[in-house]
Amino acid sequence: MKGILIKSIGGFFFVADQEKNIYQCRIRGKIREKIYPGDYVEIDKKNKILEDFYSRKNLLKRPKVANVDQVVIMHSLKNPDFKPALLDRFLLLVESSGFEPLIVINKIDQAAVSFKEKFREYQDAGYELHFISVKENKNLDRLFKKLNNKINVLTGPSGAGKSSFLNKVIEDADLKTAAVSKKLKKGVHTTRMVELLSLPNKGWVADTPGFSSMSKLNLEIEPDNLSWYFPEIAEYNNQCKFNRCTHLHEPQCVVQQKVEAGEISARRYQSYQQLYNELKEKERKY
Ligand code: GDP
Ligand code: ZN
Repeated sequence: MKGILIKSIGGFFFVADQEKNIYQCRIRGKIREKIYPGDYVEIDKKNKILEDFYSRKNLLKRPKVANVDQVVIMHSLKNPDFKPALLDRFLLLVESSGFEPLIVINKIDQAAVSFKEKFREYQDAGYELHFISVKENKNLDRLFKKLNNKINVLTGPSGAGKSSFLNKVIEDADLKTAAVSKKLKKGVHTTRMVELLSLPNKGWVADTPGFSSMSKLNLEIEPDNLSWYFPEIAEYNNQCKFNRCTHLHEPQCVVQQKVEAGEISARRYQSYQQLYNELKEKERKY
């Protein structure tokens, strides 16, 4: 039977089937490779043996999660205040690592009227946004639908509400299974292995936020590849007069024209300039 590994502890491998029944398995001795939560595996249901595993499409490094379908970038509207330049960095990190981002803005219970206006530039760039309140249970169902049938990892700045969200997922699951509640402990960094938590439907979310270090990963991006990670700029990458246009100062640059015409957000373009210069600076240092 095919299943998905959700965690492993002390030589036991916990595998879920389609209906999310859990099998606590031993592993076949011949398997030498490391396997991680998110790996699809073949188990002998009767003898509770993990027999084999399937090749994975990707592996997130921190935490180690296999077959990640989506990285949920959670920011808050207030406390801490929403900072678009920071969201741009998170988006860059996720996009350049080859993962699919989903933007979630939490704490809309703290919203003033027409707060959505400042997020229009992300929608214009092609991103889908979810506005939620973990505290007041707002729009969580719609978000869960978006996480359905996927392996999700959560990331975002400290204070955005990630642990609150994960605790909500655990509570919901516990209400259903009447299991003992086990709250995530904040600020306690044990060397516990990551676990996939069951979402209300067929989806999974890793219980540990990913991409914990922002600055290190930036190094892996070549400045001249940066534009590919801004969808609204990438769209015009082959339309400028110069072949390898950086869209910064070249004449007859379509991107600069679109910014001037207001079709590309000037604020996002500023982020692009800023990040380009940072990456160039790093290149010079090494
Ligand atoms: P993390 O650092 O991303 O894990 O954020 P936490 O989950 O620890 O949340 C930080 C603070 O924001 C806590 O005091 C939470 O109670 C609060 N918080 C989380 N979600 C919401 C929300 O939807 N609305 C409001 N007003 N506060 C929230
Ligand atoms: Zn250009």
